[in-house]
Amino acid sequence: MPQQAETIINQWPLHAVDGGYEMVPFKVYTQRDLDKIEPLQKLSEAMRFEMKVVSSVLPFRVNQYVIDELIDWDNVPADPMFQLTFPQRGMLSAEHYDTIAKLIQDGADKATLAAAVNEVRQALNPHPADQMEMNMPLDDEGNRLDGMQHKYRETVLFFPSQGQTCHAYCTFCFRWAQFVGDKELRIAASEASTLHDYLKAHTEVTDLLFTGGDPMVMKTKHLAAYLEPLLEPEFDHIQTIRIGTKALTFWPHRFLGAEDAGELIDLLTRMVRAGKHVAVMGHYNHWKEMDTDAARAAIRAIRSTGAVIRAQGPLIAHINDDPDVWAKMWKMQVKLGIIPYYMFVERDTGARGYFEVPLERAWEIYREAMQQVSGLARTARGPSMSASPGKVEVQGVTEIKGEKVFVLRFIQGRNPDWIQRPFFAKYNPDATWLHHLEPAFGEEKFFFEDEYEAIRDERIDAAQT
Ligand SMILES: *Cc1c(COP(=O)(O)O)cnc(C)c1O
Ligand code: SF4
Repeated sequence: MPQQAETIINQWPLHAVDGGYEMVPFKVYTQRDLDKIEPLQKLSEAMRFEMKVVSSVLPFRVNQYVIDELIDWDNVPADPMFQLTFPQRGMLSAEHYDTIAKLIQDGADKATLAAAVNEVRQALNPHPADQMEMNMPLDDEGNRLDGMQHKYRETVLFFPSQGQTCHAYCTFCFRWAQFVGDKELRIAASEASTLHDYLKAHTEVTDLLFTGGDPMVMKTKHLAAYLEPLLEPEFDHIQTIRIGTKALTFWPHRFLGAEDAGELIDLLTRMVRAGKHVAVMGHYNHWKEMDTDAARAAIRAIRSTGAVIRAQGPLIAHINDDPDVWAKMWKMQVKLGIIPYYMFVERDTGARGYFEVPLERAWEIYREAMQQVSGLARTARGPSMSASPGKVEVQGVTEIKGEKVFVLRFIQGRNPDWIQRPFFAKYNPDATWLHHLEPAFGEEKFFFEDEYEAIRDERIDAAQT
C-alpha cells in the first residue's frame, strides 16, 4: 500500500498552493517580550502593567502574523482577536490580581513571586474533567500509557511530544496549565511505537486524533513518523486521522510558504491517496480568523490534498458570545468548503470566570445562529460540554408539566449506550457547567450516574494495581 501511494504521489501536482506564497519568518513574542510588541506601546501604561500581571499567571504567546493581520488595533481592547490572545485584567479575580500586582510593584524576589503565582494557578482548576485518572489507557500490567487518551470506544487521542505548544496561545485555553511548565500536567508521548503498538492491539478503534497543543507546530518529518506507518495493512481499522489545529488561524503560512509546508501538503495528499480519511479539525472562534488572504490560501492548500477541514471551537464571552458572529462564521466556513462540527461550552478551568456563558444563553446563541444559516451550516453540534462522563449537549430549555427544565443528551459517552438518550435537569439560569445541574422531576440522580461511578471506581482500581 505505501509503495503504491509513492507512485501515485509522484504523478500528483505537488505544492498545489495558489499564489506562490513566499517563505515568511515566524516571529514569536512571550511574556518577556511584551515591551517589544509595537502596537501595545500606544496603550496606557496601566493597561500594559495589567497584562504583565496576568501573563505571569496565565500563558501568553503571540506572533507577528496575529499582531499584523488578525487584530484590529483601532478596536482594542474590545477586538475579539485581541481578547483571544492578549491577557486582560478581568481574567484573574480581584484578589488574585491584587496579590500578584503588589508583589511585582514591590519588586518581590523571583522565588516569592513564583510561589504566589503557583498558588494562584493551583486555585484555577488546572486539570479539569479527570483527564489524567480517567482517560489515559493502561497497558496489560496496569501502567498508564502517557501521551494517549482513550475515552470513547472508537477514538484514540494522541499527544505527540513535539506538538505540545501552539503558534500563539488562546487566553481561554483549557490546556493552559501545561503551557506554564506544569510537568505533572503535561500529557505527551515521545514514542511513535507506543501509539502504533496500542492501535495494533485495539482493532475497535477507527479514529485517531492528534492533538496538543497543536500538532501542526511539529516539523513535517516528525508528523510523518507518526502517520506513515498507519498506511501498513495492520492499521486498516484506522479509517480516519484527525489532526486538531489552530494553525489555520495563528499561522496559516505553515501550509503555504513556511519551511516544510510543501512536504506537509505532500504528506496529507499521500495519506488521502492511500485511502485514509484525513480530517483537519480547525479550531475557530470567529469569522475574522478566516478573513485574511493567507488563511484562505491555507484552507485551499489543505483542501487540494483531499483532506477535509472540520471546524470546532468554544463559545466564549468577550470573543464570540453573539449569534451573528457564529452565523457569519459558519456561513464563511461553508463557503470555504469547511464543515462546521462542534460548538463547545467553555470548560471549568483557568480564567473561566471571565469567559463563561450561562448554558441557557449558550443554547440561545446556538439556536439564533442556526436560524440564520442554510442546512449545510447546521452540521455544527452543541453547545456541548466535554465533561468526564461524556459530551453533553444542551438541547434546550422547556417546560414539562409545569416544571422548567434543561433538555440534555450525550453526543459522546463513556458508555455508548448513553448516547442520544434525552435527559432532564432542573432549570438553573446561572448554570455554566454540568456539575451545576441537578436532575429534574425530583429524581435523585441522573440516569447515568451509578454506571459512571462504577466505571470510575474500576478505572481507579486498575490504575493502582
Ligand atoms: C470529543 C472527543 C472525541 C471525539 O468524539 P467524536 O464524537 O467522535 O467527535 C474523542 N475523545 C475525546 C476525549 C473527546 O473529548
Ligand atoms: S490552540 Fe488549542 S491548545 Fe493551543 S492555546 Fe488555543 S485552545 Fe489551547
